Amino acid sequence: MKETLKRPEIDLSECVLCDICIELCPYVFKKNDAGYIEVADTDEYPEEDIDDIIRSCRGDCIVWDEDA
Ligand code: SF4
Repeated sequence: MKETLKRPEIDLSECVLCDICIELCPYVFKKNDAGYIEVADTDEYPEEDIDDIIRSCRGDCIVWDEDA
């Protein structure tokens, strides 16, 4: 049985590049060479930390992808 991993996803069209996600959780959120935020591949995403970031995100553009 495949285990599903909850993974944060970013709607880049709404992202205002405030960098709050990077400041709060730099090992999950990174800025790529093109200057956009991306989610790093990791075995685990800290749910409480990311819930805080979802609430703090200025663009209101981070959601959980439940079927990652
Ligand atoms: S917190 Fe939200 S708006 Fe700010 S850089 Fe991260 S994804 Fe973009």
